[in-house]
Amino acid sequence: MTSLRLPPLPTIKDLIKLYKLRALKQLSQNFLLDERITDKIVRAAGNINNHVVLEVGPGPGSITRSILKKNPSKLILVEKDPRFLPILQILQEACEGKVDINLHIGDIRSYDFNNGLKHAQSSDWYGVPPPIHLIGNLPFSVSTILLVEWLHSISEREAAWKFGRTSMTLTFQKEVAERMVAPPGHKQRCRLSVICQLWCEVQNKFLIPGRAFLPKPDVDVGVVTLKPLKYPLTNIPFKMAEKILRNIFNMRQKYSFKGASRLFPEEMRDELVSRMYFIADLDPQIRPFQITNDEYCRLFYAYKVISDDHPEILEYDSRAQKKKIEHSV
Ligand code: SAM
Repeated sequence: MTSLRLPPLPTIKDLIKLYKLRALKQLSQNFLLDERITDKIVRAAGNINNHVVLEVGPGPGSITRSILKKNPSKLILVEKDPRFLPILQILQEACEGKVDINLHIGDIRSYDFNNGLKHAQSSDWYGVPPPIHLIGNLPFSVSTILLVEWLHSISEREAAWKFGRTSMTLTFQKEVAERMVAPPGHKQRCRLSVICQLWCEVQNKFLIPGRAFLPKPDVDVGVVTLKPLKYPLTNIPFKMAEKILRNIFNMRQKYSFKGASRLFPEEMRDELVSRMYFIADLDPQIRPFQITNDEYCRLFYAYKVISDDHPEILEYDSRAQKKKIEHSV
């Protein structure tokens, strides 16, 4: 594998000083300056040589430099804060003729993947994954929201997943990373664990101590890789799975049927929740965090079967009902 030699560049630390780039709290900016750590993050991504790599939130560009050393065919940088444009342009110029760097100043949540990746090589969902990789030391304030949006896109095979099973290497607050991989019975097992594992193979690769960042956040950080599964564990719509999981995990320590019963209007609650567990062949007294992914899939299936007889449950939202009652008294 060929490795790209970058021309001599000022250090990130010097550039931050030179351009007076104070980290902005409202954008959750914490910079990584240690090349050994940024190299390790990029190594966790596996082979990205000749891949189109999209980095979210490059900031002053330390992970960016580590990515470039791996010789991607193209690098797309999506950064919300325009203050980083001059620094990133220095990198872009230094790589001219070697790697095509596409700079996009804007919010990743409104980024047009179809357009940005239109020249990337796509692959069949059931074939080898496409040579595309998403990487980022995400802002904590948006990381989980973004993750859930991306899992939704994976389930629909759209955005970056219209091109095949695009994999990701992302950072999360340590506890969030632990939740993402938590198996049944684990104290961190939650709704996020299940939705991640239904659609992806998730690995919590390693921990970066908070002190490695500038400024130092109050938490440590986990580096997680996600590879979309060829055969997701369920084929029910993402929003339906999310709704079922939200209701069940709403009462995490109680018997799971208690939360599940909230999926149904009060007058038919007892009957339908019993039917749901009967069809799923599951003990209603099992607690939400003890349920395996396969058992959750059986519950989804059971809910779907019941909704064929009672389509009105699809629109039912016990929280909205509760609010309605509160407003009327
Ligand atoms: N990658 C750099 C590093 O590791 O040193 C910076 C990481 S910092 C935690 C997060 C970066 O994401 C910041 O540069 C911030 O401006 C950027 N950012 C925040 N929200 C964003 C969004 N919605 N879309 C794109 N970039 C965003």
